[in-house]
Amino acid sequence: MSESVRLGAGGLAERLTAVQGGIVAAAAAAGRDPAELTTIVVTKFQPVSLLQELAALGVRNFGESRHQEAQAKAAELLQLDLTWHFVGQVQGKKARQVRAYADVIHSVDRASLVDALASEDSVVDCFVQVNLTDDPSRGGVAPGELPKLVEHVLSTAGLRLIGLMAVAPLGAEPRPSFARVRELGEQIQQFAPNAKSLSMGMSQDYAEAIIEGATHLRIGTAITGNRPVSG
Ligand SMILES: *Cc1c(COP(=O)(O)O)cnc(C)c1O
Repeated sequence: MSESVRLGAGGLAERLTAVQGGIVAAAAAAGRDPAELTTIVVTKFQPVSLLQELAALGVRNFGESRHQEAQAKAAELLQLDLTWHFVGQVQGKKARQVRAYADVIHSVDRASLVDALASEDSVVDCFVQVNLTDDPSRGGVAPGELPKLVEHVLSTAGLRLIGLMAVAPLGAEPRPSFARVRELGEQIQQFAPNAKSLSMGMSQDYAEAIIEGATHLRIGTAITGNRPVSG
């Protein structure tokens, strides 16, 4: 690693290394192969320069949650050939634009969005997001509605369902929530056999998510440091 990267990163390299070590340790404790895990660094609100530093440190998978910001970053960093994960709520009228740069959409949560994402020309990987709270504004489909939404994704051209995504509810033990997502994943695999992935685990709870079978970790502040305050 170059001196300028190390000094300019303000501890970024150290935090990245620490989290990577934490992931390997959590995988070992769970009897899992860390090679099964994709670590997505969530860089919402962070400047492009920070993404460039992360890319120089070897990060390939980036997560963003706000469409305009994500679109601009993906365009500016096009030559780095990064993999873009959209993890925020998608507005129906922006769906086609999100598809244009996102390699993976983690937040498919309603039938109207599935319809808006349909395409005859290309295929995008996606997760159906499950809402584990009683608050509909948090995004995600209610578990009771999940099978119907999964059927809808499966019958729609241009979407390849690879699994389920969830955020653990605030203020509760994360592990039972992640266990629930794993069980829901097992249920839908009876008719969606390719939906084997689980996008779950963030800065505070990735170890618990790994124990419950996470395949895609979405980690922000533990690697990036605090997010700049949004305007
Ligand atoms: C911001 C965000 C993350 C990362 O959160 P941290 O607590 O910073 O690790 C993960 N998933 C989603 C959907 C997010 O919006």
